[in-house]
Amino acid sequence: MNCMSKKLTIIIPVYNESSNIFRVVSEISKVTIPYPYEILFINDGSTDDTELVLKEIACTKKHVFFISFVRNYGHQMALKAGMDAATGDGVISMDGDLQHPPSLIPLLIRKWEEGFDIVITKRQDHKNIPFMKKAMSALFYKVINALSSAHISYGEADFRFLDKKVVAVFKKIHEPDLFWRGMVRWVGFKSTEVSYQAEERFKGESKYTFKKMVSLALNGILSFSTKPLYFSIYVGFGCAFTSILVFIYVLISFFSNRVVPGWTSTLIIMSFFSGVQLVLIGIIGLYIGKLFVQVKDRPLYIINESTYGNAD
Ligand code: UDP
Ligand code: MG
Repeated sequence: MNCMSKKLTIIIPVYNESSNIFRVVSEISKVTIPYPYEILFINDGSTDDTELVLKEIACTKKHVFFISFVRNYGHQMALKAGMDAATGDGVISMDGDLQHPPSLIPLLIRKWEEGFDIVITKRQDHKNIPFMKKAMSALFYKVINALSSAHISYGEADFRFLDKKVVAVFKKIHEPDLFWRGMVRWVGFKSTEVSYQAEERFKGESKYTFKKMVSLALNGILSFSTKPLYFSIYVGFGCAFTSILVFIYVLISFFSNRVVPGWTSTLIIMSFFSGVQLVLIGIIGLYIGKLFVQVKDRPLYIINESTYGNAD
C-alpha cells in the first residue's frame, strides 16, 4: 500500500498536564514521521486547566484533537478510550509528560513497516527515578510474572505502536479493569521490543500515586490470572496438614500426662488460622468483586466533550 494513504493516530492520556501539552505537540512535530498523523489527547478528568489548553491547541492545530472524560477514570481507561476512537492504520500510545521520547517514533514505525503488528518499548531507567518507585516496579514485575500467564518484562511502558488489526481487537474488549501491558502479550500477533532511555518528566509530578500503583498492580495480577485462587487451596492444605501435627502434639502431651498447653498456644493457633482464613476469603472476595463489576456491564467511561469525529 502507498505510504501516503496510511494515517497514524497518536493517543496521549493526560491528567493535570496543562504545562506539558504544548511542549509534547511541538516535540512530536520536530520528529520526521513518514505518514500523515493526528494527535488525540484523552483528558482524564483533569482538575487544572488542561481542558482549556487542549481547546486552545485543538483550535489552532488541525491535526490535534481531544476527548474529555467527565471525571478521572485512570490512565489505562484513557488509553482504552483513545483506542476506541482512533481511526489510524497504526496507533501510537505515549505519556503526556515527555517521558516517552517522541524521537523513538520513527523506529517504532520502521518496525511496523517490517511487519510487526505490536512494537513494545522497554525503558532503561534514568538515574533519578525514586528508589521507592524502582523497587515497587521491580517487585511488581516479579509478582505478576510468577502469578500470571501474561509475561511482562521490567521497564515495559504504555508507549507502543499497534497496528489497526490489534486495535480492532482492543476496541471489542469491554473490561473495567484494564492492564494493557498484559493485554498486548495476551492478544498474540507478531510483536517486537525496542528500548529507550527514559527522560525525566518535563513538568509537574507523577500522577501515579501509591494507591494508583497498587491498584494497577492488583489489576495486572487479578485480571490475568486465577493462580491466587489456587494459592488459597495450597495454603488450605498446608494449614490442614499443620493442624494434624498440632493434633498429634496435643495427643502426645495428653498421654504423657504433661499439662496440655493452655491459653497461649490455643490463642496462637486460633489467631494464626483465622488470619489465614481471612486472607483466603479476601482473595476470593477480590475475584467476586471483579465479577460483580463486570456483570453490571456499565459504560467503561463517559465522555463529556470530543473534537474527534469518531468518539461516541
Ligand atoms: N494519567 C492519566 N490518568 C491518571 C493518571 C495518569 O491519564 O489517573 C496520565 C498522565 O497524565 C501521563 C500518563 O498517564 O500522561 C502517565 O502518568 P505519570 O507520568 O504520572 O506516571 P509515571 O510516569 O510516574 O509512571
Ligand atoms: Mg510520567
